[in-house]
Amino acid sequence: AKREGRARVRFFESETDQELRDRRLLQHDLRQALEQNQFLVHFQPQARMDGEVIGFEALLRWNHPTRGFVPPDRFIPLAEENGLIVQIGEWVLREACREAASWPRPLQVAVNLSPVQVQAGDLERSIHQILLETGLAPTRLEVEITEGVLIGDFTRALNLLRRLKALGIRIAMDDFGTGYSSLSYLQSFPFDKIKIDRSFISNLEATPQSAEIVRAVLSLAHALNIPVIAEGVETEAQRAFLAREACEEMQGYLVGRPDLIERYLDLVGVTVER
Ligand code: C2E
Ligand code: CA
Ligand code: CA
Ligand code: CA
Repeated sequence: AKREGRARVRFFESETDQELRDRRLLQHDLRQALEQNQFLVHFQPQARMDGEVIGFEALLRWNHPTRGFVPPDRFIPLAEENGLIVQIGEWVLREACREAASWPRPLQVAVNLSPVQVQAGDLERSIHQILLETGLAPTRLEVEITEGVLIGDFTRALNLLRRLKALGIRIAMDDFGTGYSSLSYLQSFPFDKIKIDRSFISNLEATPQSAEIVRAVLSLAHALNIPVIAEGVETEAQRAFLAREACEEMQGYLVGRPDLIERYLDLVGVTVER
């Protein structure tokens, strides 16, 4: 934690005054965003390698009143810093579960969890409450965590994940391969799915190393009986490679971009009259 502290100080020092002011402004605006309904959820399809859609990942969007859409990579770290991510994350979970509960087809919905949500607050109780409230079967909910979730209070995180799993919720390891200790976490928790990070997929054609890494991840995951979903699949060549290597699922622009669920109503089984 000490090392992290120092790195953080240096990071802020390298920020210009302008950047610092901007960050403070955004952080201030974030406090009103929930009350003023500035958040929305986009859904991105997840499919088997033959293209059959099996679920959606919920991705948070912030439509700022003057700046327009602020990317999550920009505002989520700020919300984590001031703790607002706990409320915002709960909101995303509720929206995603409510939406999924309304689908005629029992597809799964995947929701990202921030390390801060896992370490603070009573996440188990709020998830349980949300499932009751929306009527979504726990087996249709998947939560995506990065290794950051396991870096803080490891025992606390592990216990929480175990209790979620006991409820029937699936746990996916997100951004696999980008952290320092992805491998060691595989032995500490029985993940239900591994998401290979987009960076390996986008480099598939350009760098031979990426193809070898993807192969290695797939063979490791399969030896452990964990299905794999590849992120950021954009081309048919990438899909074909992954299918050949027995990757189970894919997500990416090739199947569909994150968008309002309205765009995907036919996939969730809602017949729209035209
Ligand atoms: P992530 O969980 O790794 O989400 C995947 C990101 O890849 C999304 O970016 C998605 O739009 C993008 N993506 C998907 N397919 C493709 C593709 O084929 N090509 C390319 N170039 N990109 C693709 P997005 O929506 O900007 O989200 C960025 C990150 O913000 C997410 O990365 C996640 O870490 C975080 N995030 C988003 N929503 C939430 C949320 O509700 N809670 C938390 N804690 N984090 C969230
Ligand atoms: Ca994710
Ligand atoms: Ca990811
Ligand atoms: Ca990512």
